[in-house]
Amino acid sequence: MLRLPPFTYHRPAGLDDALAMLSAHAGDVMPIAGGTDLLPNMKHRLFEPGHLVALKRVPELHGIAVDGEVLRIGAAETLHAVSVDPLVRRHFPSLAEAAGNVAGPQLRNMGTIGGNVCLDTRCTYYNQTPFWRQALGYCLKKDGEVCHVTKVGRKCVAAHSADTPPVLWTLGASVELAGPGGRRTVPVAEYFVADGIWNSVRERDELVVALRIPLPGPGLRTAFRKLRQRNAIDFPLLNVAVAVEMEDDVVGEMRMVVSALGSRPRAITGLADIAGGRRLSDDVVDTAAQRAFQQCHPLTNIIVDADWRRAMVAVEVRRALQGLA
Ligand SMILES: Cc1cc2nc3c(=O)[nH]c(=O)nc-3n(C[C@H](O)[C@H](O)[C@H](O)COP(=O)(O)OP(=O)(O)OC[C@H]3O[C@@H](n4cnc5c(N)ncnc54)[C@H](O)[C@@H]3O)c2cc1C
Ligand code: SF4
Repeated sequence: MLRLPPFTYHRPAGLDDALAMLSAHAGDVMPIAGGTDLLPNMKHRLFEPGHLVALKRVPELHGIAVDGEVLRIGAAETLHAVSVDPLVRRHFPSLAEAAGNVAGPQLRNMGTIGGNVCLDTRCTYYNQTPFWRQALGYCLKKDGEVCHVTKVGRKCVAAHSADTPPVLWTLGASVELAGPGGRRTVPVAEYFVADGIWNSVRERDELVVALRIPLPGPGLRTAFRKLRQRNAIDFPLLNVAVAVEMEDDVVGEMRMVVSALGSRPRAITGLADIAGGRRLSDDVVDTAAQRAFQQCHPLTNIIVDADWRRAMVAVEVRRALQGLA
């Protein structure tokens, strides 16, 4: 049995209270929302904070509502709530689909969209017990000096494994952050960085307060595809999010983001040349699928054949676009 390390559990009444608690215990504290990822990671001794600050009862982190020209989703809303929300389903079906395909039902009832955006990266050599990791001499991300994937000690390439961020990126969403220095808003497209140890621009004493998604025009079509070993529960081996602005079945703009391969989601480039001003014909779909394949290079950070995952990029992109066509 894996036991949790000891910690003190704090229940702030509001956002300011939560931020003050994070500052008071700086260096020995982490926020906890649903705990569906943090607690298993603490059992694996990947994190051992002496203090946890609980976010689920912070009122400022709740609510799904239209706010001017955007849909605002509070960070502490559960994935289940997001997946069934009528506004999300009406305006952003790919987000409802992604949230509804995270893990399994119990985890979606506890896990939050904020926790999903802040999910730690994952790796075959990292998400293991201390005994397992010690036997291999640990690794760069935690307690060691070398990366077992790249075989050098310079960079961690653990996989970004959350389902909602690639979709949020294609929808032009932003992350609303609050910290000791005040509030700021960062586009999801600029939020993630290619560093598997800490893969976002969020400071450790900042909280995600909400996600803000611009309300779409009438021509937006969206799709989400997820490849995993067991559809009932597993993390993604690959996911593909697409948003296409269309008028009379002709593509205006196409945004495509692929994830679960490297440390951050990756936007596929060059799609305007392939699809702009055209219908989603078989030729356009095939060329876009090949473009995505050329730009994706999975690593052996997940215990599934990297060449097969790469081949599946083209397959899943084709399925996503055929669904839209
Ligand atoms: C068996 C299993 C299968 C899973 N499958 C998937 C899957 O298919 N897809 C997927 O995306 N995830 C999966 N997960 C991971 C997890 O359940 C989800 O990502 C979930 O959304 C995490 O949210 P949470 O609220 O539980 O986060 P927590 O576990 O509470 O926190 C996760 C991290 O985010 C930080 N955090 C949480 N909220 C905030 C905030 N508002 N501001 C700043 N930091 C914050 C925490 O400090 C922690 O570092 C799986 C987990 C398990 C155990
Ligand atoms: S990618 Fe390398 S450094 Fe990062 S968790 Fe995996 S083995 Fe460790």
